[in-house]
Amino acid sequence: MSDQVVTRFAPSPTGDLHMGGLRTALFSYVLAKHHHGKFYLRIEDTDYKRCQEGSSDAILSALQWCGLQWDGEVIYQSDRLALYSRYAHMLLSKGLAYRCFCSEERLEEVRKKHMAQGLRRGYDGHCRHLSSKDMAAHIKQLKPYVIRLKLPKQGDVHVEDALRGTIQFPWQQLEDFIILKADGFPTYHLAHVVDDALCKVTHVLRGSEWISTLPVHDFILQGLGWPSPVYVHLPLILDSEGGKLSKRKQAVSVQAFQDQGYLKEAVINFLALLGWSYDDKTTLFSLDELIKQFSIGRVSKSAAEFSVEKLDYFNHHYLVSLPPVELRQRLAPFLKKAFSHLYRSDHPACAPESMLAQQTAQQRAENLASLYVSRLKHLSELESYLAVLLSEEPMVYEAAVWQHKKLNHATSLMSLEAMIALLDGLQPWTQEHVEASLKELALKHDWKVFTVMMPLRIALTASQQSPSSALIAYYLGQEESVKRLKAAYASLQAQNLSES
Ligand code: GLU
Repeated sequence: MSDQVVTRFAPSPTGDLHMGGLRTALFSYVLAKHHHGKFYLRIEDTDYKRCQEGSSDAILSALQWCGLQWDGEVIYQSDRLALYSRYAHMLLSKGLAYRCFCSEERLEEVRKKHMAQGLRRGYDGHCRHLSSKDMAAHIKQLKPYVIRLKLPKQGDVHVEDALRGTIQFPWQQLEDFIILKADGFPTYHLAHVVDDALCKVTHVLRGSEWISTLPVHDFILQGLGWPSPVYVHLPLILDSEGGKLSKRKQAVSVQAFQDQGYLKEAVINFLALLGWSYDDKTTLFSLDELIKQFSIGRVSKSAAEFSVEKLDYFNHHYLVSLPPVELRQRLAPFLKKAFSHLYRSDHPACAPESMLAQQTAQQRAENLASLYVSRLKHLSELESYLAVLLSEEPMVYEAAVWQHKKLNHATSLMSLEAMIALLDGLQPWTQEHVEASLKELALKHDWKVFTVMMPLRIALTASQQSPSSALIAYYLGQEESVKRLKAAYASLQAQNLSES
């Protein structure tokens, strides 16, 4: 047997991939890659009533977005029904499973009876004890049947989990699980064991909800003579109130975070620390570093808290660390969504002006957006920051925006007038020249730099808060900056008149 580490991610396509699922995929991926092994993707689509159209594709693209590239072809269980049926019948022929002909109605009655008696719901084993004569008669009548496991009814079973060690269960707690349904579809219990064994999976990382059925999976493995993989049941993920993370309470789908403008680097780093740590101080991990450092030994058993604040922290960190070219590529889809008119092919380019002569409306949006990055938690916040800057409507200035204890109307008017004269026709329109000229203007009039920059800021953004107003002017462009300064001057002058 090869000693290569093989893991897999085996989601059911019942909706969007959620963050908990992505964590399982991440841990499985980095474990395999740490050992130069294989990571497979298997879509568990045998419970077709719960499957949702488009879900498989959404799962694939969420994994690809994060860079968790699987090896080989994606396995779809629904393509392999004959295989599961073969192994179910093998268990049947070994006497480890039996045909159950019970109707839905009968099963419902049993359920009700058990409930009334305060017993655990579950099958009563009726067909386990069918005489061979009755069995033959049912088969002859072509009565539909399911195949159930014939689990031991007495004693205890011991199973191994890599994080929890040996776990003991009384067999009595486990009912005779169905492994093949009447329509020929396998249940999870059989299908995943078969696929894991045939793909030579060495480590099964999955949610802790599967611990209680581990003896069932172990029983199938032993029945078919297959070695057991290492089972790693990952810790629960709780919300900030200590409840189970749930889409009813908050956004948990990977897509929702992607749409809000969280970077894949932040999502990966954040998920890595949901139940795993390298030591008690290192918090920043890229995917490559995780591959280098990951080990099951440092996965925790205790539940992890899903804190959006922590995710925001990582996102901010990775946003401000992106190299400029990369940053623009990440900004573009968000700007395109929020300001689609700028991205129409018939949108006119901005007026040609020296260094920024080639600046298209899109580039201008990206340039301006890049100034706001250090203020962002995620990229979808760009829309509100840039709404006024990228607006093509005439500027509107509320009277309140001119109220500032360090500003006085008369000086602001003088400053706006001087800036209009300065910037209209300033050549060349370079970042350094725009900045230096504005500072020189302040010096010339014996004003504080603030006396120039704040009115400029208000003129350009209709707000008292923004990144450097000289930089905004530079990226906004000469024509638009002067237009806004003139509009601001007119607005402030009108206000002065009405006050006097
Ligand atoms: N389809 C199962 C789930 O989505 C997979 C569990 C496993 O990884 O074996 O929970």
